[in-house]
Amino acid sequence: MDLFERIRLLSETNSLPHAVIFEGERAKEFSEFFAKTAVCEGENKPCGVCRHCIKAQKGVHPDIINLEPEGKTKNYKVDFVRNIKSDSYVLPNEADAKVYIFNDAENISTVSQNALLKVLEEPPKSVVFVINCKEKTNLLDTVISRATVFICEDEELEKISEETFNIIKTAVLQSEYDLLSLLHSYSSDKQELLRICDELVFSLRLLYRAKVKESDFEEYSEVLDKLTLNRILNAIDILTNTKKDIMQNKAVKIVVARTCIKLKNTLGR
Ligand SMILES: [Zn+2]
Repeated sequence: MDLFERIRLLSETNSLPHAVIFEGERAKEFSEFFAKTAVCEGENKPCGVCRHCIKAQKGVHPDIINLEPEGKTKNYKVDFVRNIKSDSYVLPNEADAKVYIFNDAENISTVSQNALLKVLEEPPKSVVFVINCKEKTNLLDTVISRATVFICEDEELEKISEETFNIIKTAVLQSEYDLLSLLHSYSSDKQELLRICDELVFSLRLLYRAKVKESDFEEYSEVLDKLTLNRILNAIDILTNTKKDIMQNKAVKIVVARTCIKLKNTLGR
């Protein structure tokens, strides 16, 4: 099970932790996913379509507070942390949860961490603290022990299969009709359809990472140039919901048609 699935599972069982540390190259990516999951009001969080998900994707959700370290030392000043602490007792604006993300927190000073300790131990109801860092070596044991730690390693970027790339390319560059004719061939076999959904999600996550890395992925560039990170995430949410619909035995042809429309709207704008 990958980290995305683990976060989804925690959310489904109502056990999202109130303090989390994401450590590693992909820490920011997972922080965003986690925050979106925490504020989402749809089913199968993050659903990607509710008002909270949409605001989160645009980076304008008032209850997801992205914090950045200051100055050359990349520290979070102690006064700043104290302000965050008192702010966390104010109820969320729109969502049922309020998420504070300390980005790039690898250099946060001991004093500032100590200022956070108490609130990490007993966070106000509905508040989530997310710390992301490349390495947690400078984080205090007392901070680490109050949080759930997730390791987000950057694995080698694998190849996207020709079959799935062709579908994604069609969604991005061609018409809805082309996409529908392509996916139609999968609608007679439920298992086959579930398989292709899984592979599409996997490929979209690879594209997401290729985009984040901003390195030269010439083979995917015609598609990557046209996509934004949010649109890729949205497409992943759409396919996750498609899988759920198929498993709930909804009429496959309708599910496929609806998926095509949504994918085209998201990826092919
Ligand atoms: Zn949602």
